[in-house]
Amino acid sequence: MTHFHIITLFPESIEAYINSSIIGRARRDKKISVTFYNPRDFTKDKHRRVDRKPYGGGPGMVLEAESLLKAAENALRGKKDALVIFFSPGGNLFTNARARAYAKKYRHIVFLCGHYEGIDARVARILKAKSISIGPYVLTGGELPAAVLIDVISRQIPGVLGTFESLEEERVSGREVYTRPEVFVHKRKKYRVPKVLLSGHHKNIEEWKKKKSS
Ligand code: SAM
Repeated sequence: MTHFHIITLFPESIEAYINSSIIGRARRDKKISVTFYNPRDFTKDKHRRVDRKPYGGGPGMVLEAESLLKAAENALRGKKDALVIFFSPGGNLFTNARARAYAKKYRHIVFLCGHYEGIDARVARILKAKSISIGPYVLTGGELPAAVLIDVISRQIPGVLGTFESLEEERVSGREVYTRPEVFVHKRKKYRVPKVLLSGHHKNIEEWKKKKSS
């Protein structure tokens, strides 16, 4: 089983996704587990505040080191060889190849979800965390990236995908897919399924799919 540990102020923004569809099934089947740690539960501040003004000025707030670190240490307690990831738009781009490597190598993966202007840089340094970006754009927080990584990594864990879905993952699955009806009429215009897909000629179908996915 692969255990995902998510340090976040907003667990509810991830919960619906990880309880649904294939990822929800993987949790129920105990192929993966997901645990949340809220930095607010680890702060000494009587108002449970964990965001502070940035040194050097500038807009927005920064998530303080201490409560994040305590939450992460709680997640890491007693675990050897855990991978710690912090999200940043400027981080290393996440790919399927990374997902495969992480799924193979790590049983525990900790995600530090930034918010506002991000997290105090010392947290990543202390935890020797890897920086990951899910794309060249800026999101509000690290919660969507955490859900994305859980999804992509889980697909690489044996037994998470059903037999059919795994086969689809391994062979060249076309990016262009069609289902019934053969002819779809929209605003009086006819949209047809490519003839090759109706031909029953497996070699030609595979070649067509390969062409479409390259
Ligand atoms: N000025 C900050 C910077 O450049 O890092 C932007 C912070 S962003 C508004 C808030 C948080 O969202 C980041 O700390 C990070 O956790 C997450 N985030 C935003 N865009 C991301 C992306 N493309 N990939 C991964 N995480 C991202």
